[in-house]
Amino acid sequence: MTAKGKQFYLDAAQRSAEWHKDYIRKMKQCRFDTIAVHGVYSMQESLDFNQGSIIEPMYMSTSQTYRDSDEMEAALGYEIPTWCYSRIANPSMFYLEGVLALLEGYGSDADTSCVATSSGMAAIHSAVEEFLVVDPKKPGQKINFVATCQVYGGTFQQFAIRKDQERNIEWRKVINSHDIDEWVSLIDENTRFLYGEMPSNPGQAFFDLEKVAQIAHAHNLPMIVDATVASPALMRPIEWGADIVVQSVTKSLMTSGFGIGGAVIARKNLISNIDNDEMKADFAMYLKALPNRDNGPNISPMNAILALNDVRLLRTRMDLCSRNTMKVTEFLSRHKHIEQVDYLGMKDHPLHELASKYMVLVDSEYDELYNEKVNRYGHLMSFRVKGGAQATRDVFDAFQRIWRATDLGRIKSVATIPAISTHSQQGEEGRKISDIPLNLVRLCVGAEHPDDVIADLEQSLAVLDGKKIYVSSPEFSAGGASSATLR
Ligand SMILES: *Cc1c(COP(=O)(O)O)cnc(C)c1O
Repeated sequence: MTAKGKQFYLDAAQRSAEWHKDYIRKMKQCRFDTIAVHGVYSMQESLDFNQGSIIEPMYMSTSQTYRDSDEMEAALGYEIPTWCYSRIANPSMFYLEGVLALLEGYGSDADTSCVATSSGMAAIHSAVEEFLVVDPKKPGQKINFVATCQVYGGTFQQFAIRKDQERNIEWRKVINSHDIDEWVSLIDENTRFLYGEMPSNPGQAFFDLEKVAQIAHAHNLPMIVDATVASPALMRPIEWGADIVVQSVTKSLMTSGFGIGGAVIARKNLISNIDNDEMKADFAMYLKALPNRDNGPNISPMNAILALNDVRLLRTRMDLCSRNTMKVTEFLSRHKHIEQVDYLGMKDHPLHELASKYMVLVDSEYDELYNEKVNRYGHLMSFRVKGGAQATRDVFDAFQRIWRATDLGRIKSVATIPAISTHSQQGEEGRKISDIPLNLVRLCVGAEHPDDVIADLEQSLAVLDGKKIYVSSPEFSAGGASSATLR
């Protein structure tokens, strides 16, 4: 074999880049469901590279081989498309990243890219860390970031402990995120980004993203949004001006519950007061090629394909779970043992109107079931049980069909008591400002028939009337259905 020379590979890369660009352009003309089903995996790619496999293959390989040293040199210099080594990239990861970039960018004219990570927490870390560098010309400068205090428990710990406490990077907490003036009052010249979770887990805090993103940009700052609870089927922050979206892929996106994963999706040419043009030009690709290459928080190819498989029916599933959640919410809000029910879909929720501006079932106007834009508010709701902490635990312990787990977005209904689980580490004070009392149960309604979820809630709430219920006995935990004993 004679050497082909590096130029041979650069030319081929150019042709391939053009082909891919054209493919993406065509894909962008398709509806959300089509993108979710096909993503960036084309018939041509299947036939040319993947033995005609109609489903995206799982590339369980650490690394990629090269035809010769010229190709290797061009690849490792990032001059041609390559995946090199699965800590950096991998074809299976690429299929997931491609589809998530398209889905988050859907409906907007923004150009988006995505880097997938090993978890939602790794995604949040990746999304914010590049902005937290201290200007070498200003040693000792105390930098800060402005972020909603109603965030996922893990995010609270990452911000409060890993950044604020350990590294002296101030987390300026937005207590009432729907109050625009509060955001403005916290920003100064040492602020590096604005961050908000919406709807928040479990409190369902919500803010007017369009306005907050404008404020961010007026201060030359990026707007980062954790949109895990809604997923791109119900809300796409980039369309409203956000620069970066983080997803815990583990949740709404990977509903089957097969694994943990995360993603950072960013618009190209984002705004930031950090002097780093390469980072701003294509944030997600910058992360992938440099910081994440060096820090190593990538998703595994297996989890990427499992997630990809769940994403295909995202729109239909989020619609179904939203409708089920609404029905369960209506039941709970009428129940005598329930003190308060919080669901953004309820007309009397103080943030209902604001949420309705953002939470719309994508493409419902093209769905013959609806033929118009319909609001959908997702699978996450919460309720507070009358009678305090113990009454709440009694009801929770009586669930027969709703799973007790610190999880959400599942195809099965799952509930937790956040104050003693997901949000226990942040302490009483932290829970107080985030409004997470001991009698609050977070319930994420799955795809079961809602009447059966309601029946389970009904029988478990009946313990407060003194009804005895069947519980599973630990001695017989391997015995399946026969392990039920009367308490
Ligand atoms: C679960 C969750 C995360 C963290 O994701 P992991 O995949 O568990 O690391 C971040 N944000 C929200 C809103 C979550 O629910």
